[in-house]
Amino acid sequence: METISLAHAIHQAVFSARCAGQSIGFVPTMGALHEGHLSLVRRARAENDLCVASVFVNPTQFAPGEDFEAYPRDLSADQAQLAAEGVDVLFAPPPEELYPPGPALQVDLPELGSILEGQTRPNFFGGVALVVTKLLNLVQPTRLYLGQKDFQQTVVVRQLIRQLLLPVELVVCPTTREADGLAMSSRNAYLSAEERRQAPALYEALMEVHEHRDEWNVRIAEQHVRHRLASFPAIELDYFSIRAADDLRPLANIRPKEQPVALIAAWVGSTRLIDNLPLATFPPTL
Ligand code: AMP
Repeated sequence: METISLAHAIHQAVFSARCAGQSIGFVPTMGALHEGHLSLVRRARAENDLCVASVFVNPTQFAPGEDFEAYPRDLSADQAQLAAEGVDVLFAPPPEELYPPGPALQVDLPELGSILEGQTRPNFFGGVALVVTKLLNLVQPTRLYLGQKDFQQTVVVRQLIRQLLLPVELVVCPTTREADGLAMSSRNAYLSAEERRQAPALYEALMEVHEHRDEWNVRIAEQHVRHRLASFPAIELDYFSIRAADDLRPLANIRPKEQPVALIAAWVGSTRLIDNLPLATFPPTL
């Protein structure tokens, strides 16, 4: 596996593959890799001639006071895991490669960027959209692999691809979970033993809503989740919401034709975790 840190070099490295008509699968990450990331890499590896991954902790998607400095970074461990999965090229740039000096540029997502995650983290999706656009411009992949774990991110990036007419196919991969149901996340490393013990309650609450999706409306589901999580002292619910999968509009009822998705965010101690579960499918699709 070749590791590249310069923007012009990654562009060149994939250029010859593209000219030779090879397909390119791309998996962007912020590193601190776990099985969830690796499941995306395996799929990209299996479905494309060339597999490219990136590791970049993107400063513009963190607000002041969030965990940008503390975010776990271990490039050599990430490199070893990606090489073992057969990744061809790793792009791991320093911040100045993706953010050259000059007047700032922002991406504004007035609708999708201000709801759910965007309500607590106003800079977040603008930063995500900006860095994903930069990375897609450099790599120009055939397929982009994202995890369903970050559901709103997949909706934002789908819109970005559609509105900016980006020639790439988006592939959304299922959420990889620990044996007790907790969605894998680099931030799980922040949890204390007691917080880790309570954290699967988020997934359990989602599964209960899935189980009762034919009897409950959204209000009842919300009440249930609120009540259920109140018995976990380490957990403070930020939001629970049931939205339509395509544009995240709020729903009042759980009807399969609207492709409802249950989305949850909570503080577990001082760590903010998110999870989600589509409700239209049976059995539940992670
Ligand atoms: P991150 O490094 O957190 O930015 O994540 C990089 C990519 O991996 C994103 O597309 C995430 O949605 C995806 N990802 C993170 N955790 C998981 C998981 N548990 N299962 C599947 N995909 C994941």
